[in-house]
Amino acid sequence: MHRRRFLRSAGATALALPAHAALASALARADAGAAVASAPATRAPFASPPPLAPIRASSDRIVALTVCLRPFRPQGPRIEAERVGRRTLIHCYGHGGSGWSLSWGSAARVLALARATGESRLAVVGCGAIGLTCALAAQRAGLRVRIYARELLPDAPSARATGVWSPASRICTSEHATPAFERDWQAMTRASFRSYQSLLGVPGAPVAWRDGYVLSDLPFDAPRAAHDDGEPEYPSLESRLVPDLGPRSTPVADGAHPFPVAHVRRYTQMVFNIAAYSRLLMDEFRLAGGEVVLHEFADAREFARLRERTVVNAAGHGARVLVGDASLVPVRGQIARLVPQPEVDYGLTWLGHNLAVVSRGDGLLVQAQAPGDYGSGDTAPDRAASEAAVARLASLYA
Ligand SMILES: Cc1cc2nc3c(=O)[nH]c(=O)nc-3n(C[C@H](O)[C@H](O)[C@H](O)COP(=O)(O)OP(=O)(O)OC[C@H]3O[C@@H](n4cnc5c(N)ncnc54)[C@H](O)[C@@H]3O)c2cc1C
Repeated sequence: MHRRRFLRSAGATALALPAHAALASALARADAGAAVASAPATRAPFASPPPLAPIRASSDRIVALTVCLRPFRPQGPRIEAERVGRRTLIHCYGHGGSGWSLSWGSAARVLALARATGESRLAVVGCGAIGLTCALAAQRAGLRVRIYARELLPDAPSARATGVWSPASRICTSEHATPAFERDWQAMTRASFRSYQSLLGVPGAPVAWRDGYVLSDLPFDAPRAAHDDGEPEYPSLESRLVPDLGPRSTPVADGAHPFPVAHVRRYTQMVFNIAAYSRLLMDEFRLAGGEVVLHEFADAREFARLRERTVVNAAGHGARVLVGDASLVPVRGQIARLVPQPEVDYGLTWLGHNLAVVSRGDGLLVQAQAPGDYGSGDTAPDRAASEAAVARLASLYA
C-alpha cells in the first residue's frame, strides 16, 4: 500500500491502521465468548442496513469550486511566545491540513501562554479556525478579546477546508516528528477531541459522526505502486499515538455494499459542517461581547499600535509575510461542492483513483490532489480537474 498517499486522503485518516491487528484480536475474543455462552436457538435478525443512496455525480451539479492553501511547516505548527518590546507576541500558525481538528488543543496552549502574561486584554490577529478558536477559549476564560483580521469566517481561508477530523494531516514531516513534538501533538489532539464531543447533537449539527467507505481494487494490505507526488514523507501519528480516539474501520463483505470494486472497508469519522460550525463560533464570540476589527497588517511592527499588550498571531499562511516565516509552505487543495443530498449520509475514498468525497450539510465535497500541489500558492481553480474527479465518482454509480 502506498501509505503516504493513502493516509493523506480526506477519509482515509479514519481508518486508524492498527484496525487489522485490533480487529483480529477483537474477533478472536468474540469467537471465544460465543463458544462459551451459546446463543439462543432462534432469534429474529436485526434489520439489514438500509441501502446507500446514490450520489448524483455530474459536473452540472457543481455549485462551488474552491481553492485553499494549507499553511504547512515541515517542523510543525509554531506555538510559542516571544517578547517584542513591551508586548508579548504569541504565535499560533502553521497547522497544515489539521487546523480545524487541532484548533481547541492549540487554543489551550495559547491560553496558557496568554495567562502567563497577567494581562486581561488580548488581541487576536486572524479569524480563521485557529484565531477564532483561540479568541473563544480566551474569552471563556474571562479575558477581554478583540479580533483583528483581513477576513472573518466564512470568508477566511479556513472556510474552504473539507472539514473532517484529521489531526495528523500534513502536520509535520517524518524527520521532525521528535518525541517532544509527538507529546505536544498528542496533548493537542486529545484536548481537541474532547472539545468536539461537546458539540455533538447541537442544533444545526455543527459536528457529527458519519460513516464512510474506503474502496480499493487491490487488497488493503497489497503493495501499491509508489509515485512521486512531490510531497515529503509524513508520520502516521494517529494509528500509533491515539488509536483509541474513535471507531476503527471494518471490512465490508461482497454483496453488503453497492460499489463495483473488489475491496471495501467502512469507517466512521467526525465531520465538521463548517458553515454551521463557524457561524456558531462567530455568534458565541460576538454575543459574549467580543469585538472585531477588520484590518490588514502590513507587517508585525504595526502590532505596536494595538491597545492590547498581548497579541496572538493566528494569521495562518499570512504569517509568511506578516512575521517573515519562510518555513511556511503552501499546499494547494481544491474542492468541488455538489448540490447537497441529505439522503447521502456517507463519505468515500477510492484508493488508487485520487478521489475523496465528504458529505456535509452544505453539499457533497469532491476532492482530488494534483501532482504540483505541494509548494503551490496558485489559488486559481482548475475546473477540468474537478470535472474529471466528478466523472470518476460517477463511474461508481453507473
Ligand atoms: C483543501 C483543504 C482541506 C482541508 N481539510 C481539513 C480538514 O478536513 N480538517 C482539518 O482539520 N483541516 C483541514 N484543512 C486545514 C485547515 O483548513 C487549516 O489548517 C486551517 O484553515 C488553518 O487555519 P488558520 O486560522 O491558521 O488560517 P486561515 O484560515 O488562513 O486564517 C488566517 C486569518 O488571518 C488573517 N490574516 C492573514 N494575514 C493577515 C494580515 N496581514 N493582516 C490581517 N489579517 C490577516 C486572515 O484574514 C484570516 O482571518 C484543510 C485545508 C485545505 C486547503
